[in-house]
Amino acid sequence: MRYASTRGQAPDLEFDDVLLAGLAADGGLYVPKTFPRLDTVPASTAPYQDFATATLKPFFGDSALAAELPELTKQAYARFDHAAVLPLLQLDHRTWLLELFHGPTLAFKDVALQLLGLLFDRALAKRQRRMTVVGATSGDTGSAAMEALRDRANVDVVVLYPHGRTSEVQRRQMTTIPSANVHAVAVEGTFDDCQDMVKALFADTAFRDRHGLSAVNSINWARIAAQSAYYVAACARLGWKPTAFSVPTGNFGNVYAAYVARAMGAPVAKLVVGTNSNDILTRFFHSGRMQSSGVVPTLSPSMDIQVSSNFERLLFELAGRDATRVRDTMAGFRSSGSFDVSPAELKQATDLFAAAAIDDEATIAEIRRTRAATGITIDPHSAIGLAASRRVQLDPDLPLVSLACAHPAKFPDAVERATGERPKLPAHLADLFDRPERITILPNDLNQVRSFVDRVALTKSSAA
Ligand SMILES: *Cc1c(COP(=O)(O)O)cnc(C)c1O
Repeated sequence: MRYASTRGQAPDLEFDDVLLAGLAADGGLYVPKTFPRLDTVPASTAPYQDFATATLKPFFGDSALAAELPELTKQAYARFDHAAVLPLLQLDHRTWLLELFHGPTLAFKDVALQLLGLLFDRALAKRQRRMTVVGATSGDTGSAAMEALRDRANVDVVVLYPHGRTSEVQRRQMTTIPSANVHAVAVEGTFDDCQDMVKALFADTAFRDRHGLSAVNSINWARIAAQSAYYVAACARLGWKPTAFSVPTGNFGNVYAAYVARAMGAPVAKLVVGTNSNDILTRFFHSGRMQSSGVVPTLSPSMDIQVSSNFERLLFELAGRDATRVRDTMAGFRSSGSFDVSPAELKQATDLFAAAAIDDEATIAEIRRTRAATGITIDPHSAIGLAASRRVQLDPDLPLVSLACAHPAKFPDAVERATGERPKLPAHLADLFDRPERITILPNDLNQVRSFVDRVALTKSSAA
């Protein structure tokens, strides 16, 4: 099992190296050279960690970590506070809600990152090295990464988030972790500025080498692989027949994980991409043209993104795995802010994907509607998935699973506006607003961010 860069100019790597590298050296994203098939699908009644092990194992190839998967998945998902780990709630005769937010930081990022934290630890110990993780977050990846990697001996974590653009709960979840090896940095810019800086740091070979830099954004293949497990599990729980999924999307990571589950043999029949008013992906699926525009703040800040990194992995498939074509397209996108795919490629994409953009007003209406119809309170991101699934034409015979990506208490203002009731944080976070915060604010300036990372991480690595 080897992995190649979507841009074709980085060396092919084995799983452990892809895990530790994150982004490829040529700026591309790693993908398996061929998608493995699921060798076994656990019984519909199996515990969630069995699905995680079964789905991830084929991606590990000859890695010695493969043998540890049953133990690591058990340990990772023991930290979730629901006995089903990822419960599937029925909303109506054909619609289910897959709740992915029962982990320590209340968003779906925990599903992959709790496991990645353990995998990093084992892989680094085997190689006797340390690493620095630098990530950009629109709100939820940051705290999930910090929580998964805090106090680990061989890892430092620096997370960049857009100053003033996350919810207060999201910010506090990052700034109140007292561990010395994790740092949240508020950048005076947008999420896309943060993501650009992370990419620039990866492109800086000297910096990358002196830090053993790695990524926990969904550019890291291991994260995508870990997420594809819940699509396999949901299909199995619903009888392993053609199933549609609706996925609120920002960076195209979560919905791309569904594409991967399908490539491995899961009966994923249709994928609905739900965006907020930052609708570059919806416009793409309607027109075949990817065209960025400014980011506007919405009630679903984790999706306030214009440049969806993981789309490059789908583009690679649409282009028949032609890395030169991907490289040229991405270079063109960088310089002109847009690119087009051919009508045949668009047709191939829309055979599987449908898309809808849901604005704030419709988001609020959906939270209210779901609460009235089912008694279940959903967060604004989850509402976008559900609302999008009703905007597009779907075969009414297909069961539909809509993804609930965050706990409603993570976005209490929007939920209160919709339902009149303020959702409560779970007990383990009940004192979040009383905990002292540690905040670093930096200008939107690559050099300052680079020196900050050097200052907090290098001192330790040279001592180690
Ligand atoms: C990260 C996140 C998203 C977007 O997921 P992508 O993988 O970037 O598409 C949606 N909702 C919530 C709550 C998130 O934390």
